Amino acid sequence: MYQALYRKYRPQKFKDVVGQTSIVTTLKNSLQIGKISHAYLFYGPRGTGKTTLAKLFAKAVNCEHPIDGEPCEECSHCIEISEHSCVDIVEIDAASNNGVDEIRELKNKINLVPSSLKYKVYIIDEVHMLSIGAFNALLKTLEEPPEHAIFILATTEMHKVPTTILSRCQCFPFRKIEVEDIVFRLKEVVAQEKINIEDEVLQEIARSCDGGMRDALGILDQLSSYAKDNITLEDYHSSRGTLSYNMVEQFLKDLFSQNVKKVVESIQVFDKSGRDFFQIINQIIVYLRNQLIQFYTKNEALLYPEHDMIQLIFTLNRLQTAMKETENVKIIFEIGMIQSMKELEKNISREIIVDQKDDIASSSNSISREKVPAHVEKTPSPEEIPKEKTQSLLIAKQNEELFSIRINNTFARASKDILINIKQKTEQLKSRIFDSKIGFLICLILDGNIRVASDENILISYEYESMVEQALEHQRELEHQFLEILGHTVNLLFVTDETWKKLREEFIQKKNQNIPYVYKDEPQLEESMLIDTITDIKKEADAYQTAVEMFGDIVEIEEN
Ligand SMILES: [Zn+2]
Repeated sequence: MYQALYRKYRPQKFKDVVGQTSIVTTLKNSLQIGKISHAYLFYGPRGTGKTTLAKLFAKAVNCEHPIDGEPCEECSHCIEISEHSCVDIVEIDAASNNGVDEIRELKNKINLVPSSLKYKVYIIDEVHMLSIGAFNALLKTLEEPPEHAIFILATTEMHKVPTTILSRCQCFPFRKIEVEDIVFRLKEVVAQEKINIEDEVLQEIARSCDGGMRDALGILDQLSSYAKDNITLEDYHSSRGTLSYNMVEQFLKDLFSQNVKKVVESIQVFDKSGRDFFQIINQIIVYLRNQLIQFYTKNEALLYPEHDMIQLIFTLNRLQTAMKETENVKIIFEIGMIQSMKELEKNISREIIVDQKDDIASSSNSISREKVPAHVEKTPSPEEIPKEKTQSLLIAKQNEELFSIRINNTFARASKDILINIKQKTEQLKSRIFDSKIGFLICLILDGNIRVASDENILISYEYESMVEQALEHQRELEHQFLEILGHTVNLLFVTDETWKKLREEFIQKKNQNIPYVYKDEPQLEESMLIDTITDIKKEADAYQTAVEMFGDIVEIEEN
């Protein structure tokens, strides 16, 4: 039968115990000089060796031929205890029930002499879980214990143990085991088990198990069954859904430099490789926290502004809660990260060009340029596309025309008051970014820059083309959000920051030359016109196809 590593490698001698040096020394000395106490309390974090040392002490105290306080492992007592066949060693797990029956039975039998050993040893694990009744029964026993009884109480939560109990025990604080000590022990285990594993992985295991040896061995156990040959750092992280230290560092570097593209790409990679976003958040929080602690206690330089780091920790905390309420954890994480970058950006004053101008509603004229910078991809010419796509081509063409008219009209009827009002109202949406239903839309609104607005149209620019595409995909829903906050319908126009720059230059140029924007009616498309256009495009495509068949693809059809 397979035996878990932490059981198999549970120390059988004091010298094998990792960490807890002062406790081990004290216990061994007391054994050597024969000063045995009747009650001990071992307290400290889980997996730090409390139960292990309790069992080891039970054996050492009963050994017939101890050597320097160590059990001999050869006498009948040692063997009996090692084989768990000894009735005089009683283990009680207070966590599994409230312990009343066990403690009652303990009380009844405690005065009987041990059946084979010198001492009866009662090990009560998670002693803080005992009921009041059980504690009282235990207290009576601790007040007048028979000579042959030793109690070893263990707990992770000492503050829950009544002081009347504590005052009767010799208390030992177990500390988290140091990373180096854990690595040392892990190296011994992998050597004996012939597990092929990179040293870095052992370091990573030791760092991640928060000072608990049992957890460290548990992770090693899992990992050795997960990856058969050579266990790499990548095996470690992908089996646990976590990021390597370097990955966390790189991710934060991109985040703090507001590199949206790289952050979004990294999130894609995390998702595809099956990382756990909850674990990632924990890792980032721990990373930031450690940096801050180093800064506060050792005055070490911070990589990022203190305020930003603290802000990010709080954001991540909120994000965790929001993620628990949604099925689409990745999207919420992604939005949260984009939002964080926007928060960081706000510390740098944001340029709002239109605000700096006078009321631009007074200047108006038609846009003179031939081609409005398009928010959609360059419309392909008919020869580039198959026939069935002509329909969408037509719509794209119409959209482009409509789009350029709307841009013109926005400038023609824009006002600073409208812009300020809209900006104020969208700011109020912030409180709802973690709403699982509309949080995504709100982030899309907040991530954009509202550049110019009239009562009918709002022009929003985004840093990246991909964000413009996302906004276009959700245009209807976004317009609905604006209807809710403004109380009237509006058309949203999305452009990249790049396009916005061009529009702005044009606006300034016109203003300097005193050429106003003239309001234009939006085109009303007749159905017949629609059909005609489709037919035209189809004809063009057919003509091209015929030409290609006759001349090969050297033919070029002029764009009209
Ligand atoms: Zn022995």
